[in-house]
Amino acid sequence: MVTVRGVHKVFGRGHDAVHVLRGIDLDVERGSVTVVLGPSGSGKSTLLRCVNELEEITAGAIHVDGELMGYREDAKGVLHRLHPKAIATQRSRIGMVFQRFHLFPHKTALENVMEAPVQVRGLSKAAARTRALELLDRVGLSDRVEHYPAQLSGGQQQRVAIARALAMDPELMLFDEPTSALDPELVGEVLAVMQDLARSGMTMIVVTHEIGFAREVADHVVFMDDGAIVEEGRPGDVLDNPSEPRLRDFLAHVL
Ligand code: ATP
Ligand code: MG
Repeated sequence: MVTVRGVHKVFGRGHDAVHVLRGIDLDVERGSVTVVLGPSGSGKSTLLRCVNELEEITAGAIHVDGELMGYREDAKGVLHRLHPKAIATQRSRIGMVFQRFHLFPHKTALENVMEAPVQVRGLSKAAARTRALELLDRVGLSDRVEHYPAQLSGGQQQRVAIARALAMDPELMLFDEPTSALDPELVGEVLAVMQDLARSGMTMIVVTHEIGFAREVADHVVFMDDGAIVEEGRPGDVLDNPSEPRLRDFLAHVL
């Protein structure tokens, strides 16, 4: 479903250049959940941002569902950057949920979820509304559809953000520390929605420090350090029997 090959990301140029991703190779199977762990600054967010083309990669290639992201290859094998509209189309198939919810403050939960299907896909308001109500029900918010973000708890806002991403019918969902900004008692409700989504067969890449979630829900766990994947495998092996000292050290600190 997702293949990342030899991906490098360098920010800036010359003396200011920062080499953030240093040759990432990753395979994500359709319908699987990959959890990405790693210390602050290891490049986890940058990797997700490259997968959904919020950042342009410096070298390598990313395919989603067999399609090369961001570029067109001509007959001679030369790559050409895609037109921003074509990139936007590729991006619309990938949902992303951030640590901060980024909801529109002046729109209700319902309007937030309806926004992209109406504005980007040109769906009728009636159809978008029906679908948005279904999705808000799915994330357990049927009784909050007319609330504004400020009237919702952090966990509820994050669930609206998940419903909003799902409204575009993504084939892939990316989560960047979706529960890190939440009060501890609100983390569970968001993880439960994510677990439900995983059970429904969604392909997901999740950056999180929630080791319990990784253990229970992930099919594959990846540990990044300093811009590289230094250990990966099944959750039981990676979490209970890490071979990398850096991963052992990391787990000792998050658990
Ligand atoms: P955290 O756990 O703190 O979220 P992370 O693993 O997500 O960390 P990234 O946000 O991907 O790490 O950042 C990796 C490195 O890239 C950091 O050193 C960061 O300062 C650098 N970086 C990220 N974005 C940029 C940018 N736009 N310009 C320059 N450097 C950047
Ligand atoms: Mg990050």
